[in-house]
Amino acid sequence: MQERTLLIIKPDGVARGLVGEISSRFERVGLKIVAAKFTKADQTLAEKHYPSDRDVWLRGMGEKTLENYKKFGVDPEKLLGTTDTLKIGKIIQGWLVKYIISGPVLAFVLEGPHAVDLVRKICGHTLPSEAVPGTIRGDLAYDSSYLANTGKRAIKNLVHASGSLEEAKYEISLWFSPSEIFGYERVEEKAMR
Ligand code: GDP
Ligand code: MG
Repeated sequence: MQERTLLIIKPDGVARGLVGEISSRFERVGLKIVAAKFTKADQTLAEKHYPSDRDVWLRGMGEKTLENYKKFGVDPEKLLGTTDTLKIGKIIQGWLVKYIISGPVLAFVLEGPHAVDLVRKICGHTLPSEAVPGTIRGDLAYDSSYLANTGKRAIKNLVHASGSLEEAKYEISLWFSPSEIFGYERVEEKAMR
């Protein structure tokens, strides 16, 4: 079950000086860093990373937003000019692109058994306000849909992690060339087998 996944410490994580704190959590669980890059995404890379034609994902973000607005009594029509989930998803996608290119990021390829799910678990729930303590987002952030949407910006949740093996393959190929990924052995691997 060796898998590879993409993990990005987003601009807020870098700006807050949390690079060591965040990356150590993946190292200590036993995941192997097989690639790493300190970089700033341009518009083209950001738009490929957050594609504007992935309708299911966009609608999902739109639905989450509508639920959240209802909970806090916010009128979506007033704030965003629409109640259409796809249109709202596209608005958020625009905020996301702006967020990811707003500053330098540290991108990693992490390798290990069940790496995709393991990394998601360590990151925690998308909304830091709902992420449990012990996770990166739960321990180190408090942002919510409400705060982000009323501020017309993406949720600042410190990290991006691929959502599935298929997403991981696609995203790794966007951020890294094959020659930038290195295989090696970690000394404790034998003990963990
Ligand atoms: P992830 O895979 O856990 O990062 O979550 P998604 O793929 O659903 O969303 C991508 C990113 O968009 C998240 O990490 C957040 O930064 C942002 N985001 C997701 N949902 C919302 C939302 O409802 N409102 C806002 N403003 N941003 C969101
Ligand atoms: Mg995602």
